[in-house]
Amino acid sequence: MDTTVFTTIESEVRSYSRGWPTVFTQAKGAVQTAEDGTEYLDFFSGAGALNYGHNHPLLQKALVEYLTSDAPVHSLDMMTPAKRDFLQTFSDVILKPRGLDYKVMFPGPTGTNTVEAALKLARKVTGRQHILSFTNAFHGMTLGSLSVTGNSMKRKGAGIPLTNSSKIPYDDYFNGETEDFMWLERVLEDSGSGVDKPAAIIVETVQGEGGVRAARLEWLKQLSDLCGKHEILLIVDDVQAGCGRTGSFFSFEEAGFTPDIVCVSKSISGYGLPMALTLFRSELDVWEPGEHNGTFRGNNPAFVTATATLKEFWADDSFQKGQLAEAIATVHGALEQIAASVDGASVRGRGLLAGLHFADTEVANKVAAESFRNGLLVETSGPDDEVLKLMPALTTPKDQLERGMGIIAAAVAKVTGTDVAYQPGAGALAAA
Ligand code: PMP
Repeated sequence: MDTTVFTTIESEVRSYSRGWPTVFTQAKGAVQTAEDGTEYLDFFSGAGALNYGHNHPLLQKALVEYLTSDAPVHSLDMMTPAKRDFLQTFSDVILKPRGLDYKVMFPGPTGTNTVEAALKLARKVTGRQHILSFTNAFHGMTLGSLSVTGNSMKRKGAGIPLTNSSKIPYDDYFNGETEDFMWLERVLEDSGSGVDKPAAIIVETVQGEGGVRAARLEWLKQLSDLCGKHEILLIVDDVQAGCGRTGSFFSFEEAGFTPDIVCVSKSISGYGLPMALTLFRSELDVWEPGEHNGTFRGNNPAFVTATATLKEFWADDSFQKGQLAEAIATVHGALEQIAASVDGASVRGRGLLAGLHFADTEVANKVAAESFRNGLLVETSGPDDEVLKLMPALTTPKDQLERGMGIIAAAVAKVTGTDVAYQPGAGALAAA
């Protein structure tokens, strides 16, 4: 397998190819095949951009038909039938049934693009500059998104001061020792606190990059209430946790509140094609025409596959309550069994944005490397890569989920030297 060109010409900034040093030639469903014929089960799913697996046949068919029809591929924000179908379907299948009165904005097609649009809009609407974000948050690599990101290595990369934002403790930052919101409530109510009233607070309901930390639903609801009380806009960054990843289309649905602004990207196209949305309450739509733009906002092939995913998976609740719920029970059942076998290990996350935290910060990376040797792609997360992060496609068949969990269990046993008791099915029943 010739990898010379990657190591000689491609920049040192590359990262995933270092942990998974092989050349992938084929990708179907939950399996990627390498040039040497090795098959890898994929528990990474394009960092959450492939919630329906690789090359889903239904999406592929819609895409190929579109591409060979000579319909517009690129259209900035001009009107096309592909965009019309997407907007109509998104409204009918996602927004209306959830009672969400959101306008849909198409920013540039990446996660950081929708975050930048959200921050800009919040500042314009409120006339305030300051944004609050959370410890261990990750919102993207451009300057605005970095300014609300926690990771010090990523922040340092900006090379300039990241201003107009402050960090506040995420749920359970003090391991239950300090009452939640004590700091935030005091600071907002005290005119002597020195913290400028923010335009917005931006939050991930589950911190994907920051260690697969899931905020409690009641914490999220309280955060929303606090924002409402102080007329601060609440932005939910659902770039990674959205599009079904936590068990419902939006990750905040279970928590029973409506964010003012929602950032969506990664799996909205469902096929790995770049696409992003910024959703906001209609009265926040104060943009001037063209005030925020971008060349690649009209990615029509992405609109086509996005529409197909909505019709196939979200038009009723059969996928959510059936295959998705079962997949979540299978993964969490297995994780609970593995965690129970290892001293100090615990399960992190919600739905299929799940993790295993180990007391020894070296373990997760070693488990990921051992899993790769045994045919499984699984990554790590957290400031010290201390959490094994599992993001299988939502459509992964049960036997493949169990096979992947078996590889992880064996890797954990080898790395930690413990007997890991994993019995497919046992934990799933317990969790159901
Ligand atoms: N927000 C969140 C919550 C993310 O997880 C990510 C990407 N991991 C981003 C924003 C940035 O997305 P992108 O890499 O597409 O810019």
